[in-house]
Amino acid sequence: MSSFRTLDDLGDITGKVALVRVDLNLPMKDGSATDVSRVEAVKPTILELTEKGAKVLLLAHYGRPKGQRFSTMSTSFVQGDVEKVLDKEIMFIPEVMGPVVEQSIGILGNGDIGLLDNVRFWPGEEANDPEFARGMAVHGDFYVNDAFSAAHRAHASTDGLAHHLPAYAGRAMEAELKALDAALGNPEAPVAAVVGGAKVSTKLDVLTNLVGKVQHLIIGGGMANTFLAAKGVDVGKSLCEHDLTDTANRIIDEAAHAGCTVHLPYDVVVAKEFAANPASLRTCNVHEVAADEMILDVGPLATEALGDVLKTCSTLVWNGPMGAFETEPFDTATVALAKTAAALTQDGSLTSVAGGGDTVAALAHAGVKDEFTFVSTAGGAFLEWMEGKDLPGVAALIA
Ligand code: ADP
Ligand code: MG
Repeated sequence: MSSFRTLDDLGDITGKVALVRVDLNLPMKDGSATDVSRVEAVKPTILELTEKGAKVLLLAHYGRPKGQRFSTMSTSFVQGDVEKVLDKEIMFIPEVMGPVVEQSIGILGNGDIGLLDNVRFWPGEEANDPEFARGMAVHGDFYVNDAFSAAHRAHASTDGLAHHLPAYAGRAMEAELKALDAALGNPEAPVAAVVGGAKVSTKLDVLTNLVGKVQHLIIGGGMANTFLAAKGVDVGKSLCEHDLTDTANRIIDEAAHAGCTVHLPYDVVVAKEFAANPASLRTCNVHEVAADEMILDVGPLATEALGDVLKTCSTLVWNGPMGAFETEPFDTATVALAKTAAALTQDGSLTSVAGGGDTVAALAHAGVKDEFTFVSTAGGAFLEWMEGKDLPGVAALIA
């Protein structure tokens, strides 16, 4: 992996001002956060900097104000939640540059924390305006990016600042980059990728990138139906993108050339209506799906075989559930395969990295989220990384 500086590379930072990009885009209900895991993720970085005597200025976006000041989208709304997680008082600063910021820094003692307002209130943020970045940078001595989830955006606070100040990866960013490198950058072979979820169309670039990098591509979820249809299987009423069967065949060909084995389910769980435990529920061979049935999960024989594939692998990268896991019993294959991956990880034979909104929810549902090597909550940034794209916020940190 190309190298980036971390907090280990900081010298004496007593009294220095750290501009720290964090993800504070918390899900809110009735004025408080319903999930503070994003704050917990950046807590080690913030406390390490304050313990070393820096003045920490937190910089974040909140919602999509599109370059205008909306009182409903101020970062002041998350101040209380951040204080609770950090167990420290912080000072809200209703600007990101200028005299108000300068005065606030004068009031902050060493080891104190300030929270700047929503950086997306200013159009220069999303435009990545160098003058805007410079305006923020003059207040800081160095810049720390601890928001991997925003790293797929080339914005002033994720990219621009790194060009005006010495730039460092925070601890959460560092952990994420190390995990992703171990999964796809420089993985230990054989590598398996599990790709599931609803549609091929949303994950075309992911599939295309993976076939050149992994030895086993396990396709499940709704997108497996498109691949099955491409192979001439009648998938009945299943979710299927029939217009993408040529694309699916191209991916299968590319995989064959690259020496990547594509695994598709050979038995499936079907039903005539999409509901919890429907009367029409049955398991069958993929060639026996009736015209009025839908494939809603991978079958037990294929799930068992896929678990055996994982047993032969050293590395796993996973995005997308194997079935419509929100509705029972169509969570069965996802839960079983997740448990197998978790057990292999705990045994020390598998490095497992997973990400994606629904994937994280599915692993939590299976009760194994903490038993994977790393679970990324970065959403869009994780997917772009799986697509093999360079993330601007990461590139900016690499000297
Ligand atoms: P992620 O958010 O992890 O990237 P996706 O958004 O691509 O995952 O896919 C998740 C969705 O795919 C879930 O809502 C799940 O119900 C749906 N899904 C999985 N398998 C099927 C299937 N066989 N038929 C219909 N929907 C499915
Ligand atoms: Mg999703």
